[in-house]
Amino acid sequence: MIRVAQCWDDGVLNDIRVAELCRKYGAKATFNLNPGFHLKSRRLTEGWVYREGYCPGRLAWNEVASVYDGFEVASHTMNHCNAGEVDDRVFIEQSVGARNVLEDRFGKPCRGFAWPCGRYTPETMQLLREAGFAYARTTENVAQVLPCEDFMAFHSNCHFMNPEFWNIFEAAKPCGVFYFWGHSYEMMEDPKLWREYEEKLQRFAADPDVEWVNVVDLVAD
Ligand SMILES: [Zn+2]
Repeated sequence: MIRVAQCWDDGVLNDIRVAELCRKYGAKATFNLNPGFHLKSRRLTEGWVYREGYCPGRLAWNEVASVYDGFEVASHTMNHCNAGEVDDRVFIEQSVGARNVLEDRFGKPCRGFAWPCGRYTPETMQLLREAGFAYARTTENVAQVLPCEDFMAFHSNCHFMNPEFWNIFEAAKPCGVFYFWGHSYEMMEDPKLWREYEEKLQRFAADPDVEWVNVVDLVAD
C-alpha cells in the first residue's frame, strides 16, 4: 500500500478543472489559497501572466466554497508574500490571517501551509510552528518525504510535470508515501497536458495499492 497526496497552489481558475477531475477519479487534494486575491467576481486579467501570455485568472471569493467542496484548503498567506522579503511580523499576520479567513469560510480547521515561492527562513519556520500550523510545504523534492525532520520544511517528492514522475513514484514505494504538487495554470488550456494529468489520476485509481490521503494526514500529531 502506498499513500498518495497532492497539492495545488494559488487558487486559480484552472483549479475548477483539477477539482472536477479529482472528484471523477476519487482523488484527494489540498489547495493552497491566498484569500486576499479573491475578489467579488473572477479576475480574468491581471498583471500576472504565465507562459505564452497565458493569464491564470483567480476564482471569485463567493465560489471558492463550492469549487473546493470536499477538498482540503490551506494557507498560502493572504497576498502571496515571501518569507524573508517582508517583515516577519507581517509574514505571520498574513499566514495566520489567511488561515482564519479560510477556517471561517470552510467551517473546518485549515492547519496546512505552503511557502509562497518556496521561500522560508528559520525565523518564519519558528513563527509558523508557534502559530500552530501542522506543516509548511516547500518546493524542494526528496526521494522519501517521511520521516520528515521538521514539518515546517515539508518537502514533496516531485512536481506533477516531472518527466520522471512514475519512476519517482516507484522509488517512493519503500517509504509508503508519494506526494506531488503543482499549479493548475501550468496546464493552461493545453489538451495534451490536461490529458496527461487525467491519465495520472486514472492510473492511481486503477492501482489497488494506492490510497489517497490529504497532506495534513501525513503529519503525525
Ligand atoms: Zn504560490
